[in-house]
Amino acid sequence: MNEMRHDWLSDRWVIYAPNRTTRPDDYDRTSHIEPESRLRCPFCRGSEHETPEATLVLPSPDWESTRSTRQGDLSRTRAEWLVRVVPNKFPAVTYGPPPIGWSHPDVDEIRERRIGELNDSDPASARPLFIKRSTVGAHEVIIESPQHVTSLTQLSDDHTQLVFEAYRQRLKYWRARREMKYAVVFKNYGADAGATLVHSHSQLICTSFIPSDVLRIQKRLALYHETHERCYVCSVLEKEIEARERVVRETDHCVAICPFASRFPFSVSILPKRHRARYEDCSTEELADLSKMVRVILRAIEAEHPRCAYNLVLQTSHFDHELPDAFHWRLKVIPRLSKIAGFEWSSDCFINTVLPEAAAQSLRNRIQTLEVASTLSRVTPVS
Ligand SMILES: [Zn+2]
Ligand SMILES: [Zn+2]
Repeated sequence: MNEMRHDWLSDRWVIYAPNRTTRPDDYDRTSHIEPESRLRCPFCRGSEHETPEATLVLPSPDWESTRSTRQGDLSRTRAEWLVRVVPNKFPAVTYGPPPIGWSHPDVDEIRERRIGELNDSDPASARPLFIKRSTVGAHEVIIESPQHVTSLTQLSDDHTQLVFEAYRQRLKYWRARREMKYAVVFKNYGADAGATLVHSHSQLICTSFIPSDVLRIQKRLALYHETHERCYVCSVLEKEIEARERVVRETDHCVAICPFASRFPFSVSILPKRHRARYEDCSTEELADLSKMVRVILRAIEAEHPRCAYNLVLQTSHFDHELPDAFHWRLKVIPRLSKIAGFEWSSDCFINTVLPEAAAQSLRNRIQTLEVASTLSRVTPVS
C-alpha cells in the first residue's frame, strides 16, 4: 500500500509510489526516439499471462454468436478479446485495507473526516505539520487492442466504441464501491505525455478521497448552479454553439471546442450537448457518437502536429453522494506541444502561444481536408 502526504501550503496531496520505478519502459529517455516494435509486449494477444487476471473482457462480435456454449467461461474468451481491463501491475494506489501497524497518530482522526473538510479547516497550528496517510484506491489498465497498435486512430469506429464501453463499465463498477469517492480515466500517448508502453492503452485511477483541485472546481460549479439554477457548462456550451468561433465539430450528441481560456495550445474539450453529470450514464448511441468524434479530433491533431504526444482525460462526476452534484462530464485532449516552464511552475499561471480561436480554425480545416481525402479515396476507381 502506498502513502500520501499533505502539503498544507498548497493544499495538495502527493501520492508516493516507489514501486512504479521498476515498471517496463519502451522509450529511450535520452534520445526520445519512439520504438517501432517490441519483442515481448505484455499487452499483445498471446501475452495475457504477463498481466494480472482481467477484470473485464470485451470480446469480438462473433463471440456473441457462440456465446451460449461459452457463457461464464472468461478464460476461454482470451483468444477472441478485443479490449481487456487488468489491474495495473505497478499501481499508484491499491484496493484493500491499510496494513496492520501502519497507523499514524493523526490518521484515525483524518479517516473520520472528509479530505475536503480537512483542507479547508484550521490553520497548521491546530494540527501536526506533517500529515500522511495510506491510500486506498484502484489502478487499472484498459488494453485497447490485441494487436500491437499504438493509437486509437488505428482502430475502427466500432472497436473504439468498445474501448469507451469498457470505461463506462469500469466506472460503474467503482462507483458502486461505497469507499471510493473519485475516479478518472486517462490516456498518455507518447513519451512526453508520460507513456511507458507504446501499445495503445488507457488507465483508470480511483481514490477514496477527492483531490483538492477537483473539489475546488466542484464547489465552484455548485455555487454557479445555486445562484443561476443552471449548469455552468450548459450555459457556456449554449453560447459557444451559437458563436461557433471555438467549435471544432458538432455531432448529434457531442460538441468539441477549444476552451476559451485553455492553458495548452490546441487543447480540445469534447462534451455532451445534453446535461449529464456522469459519463457512465451515457446511452450506447451516445457512446457511438462520442467514439467517432474522438477519432476525428485525434486524427486532426495528428495531422496538424505529426507524432505529437497528448493526454486524453475523461472526467466524470465524483462518487461522493454527500456533496452536491453540478458536474458536466467532459473528455479533454491535451496535446503536449509545450513544456511547463519556470513561470508556470512558480505561479500556476500559464502562457499559451496559440489562441483557442486559431486552434479551432486550424482543426476545422484539417477535418475538412481529411474528409475530402477520405471521400475521394472511396470514389476513385482502382485501375
Ligand atoms: Zn503490444
Ligand atoms: Zn450541464
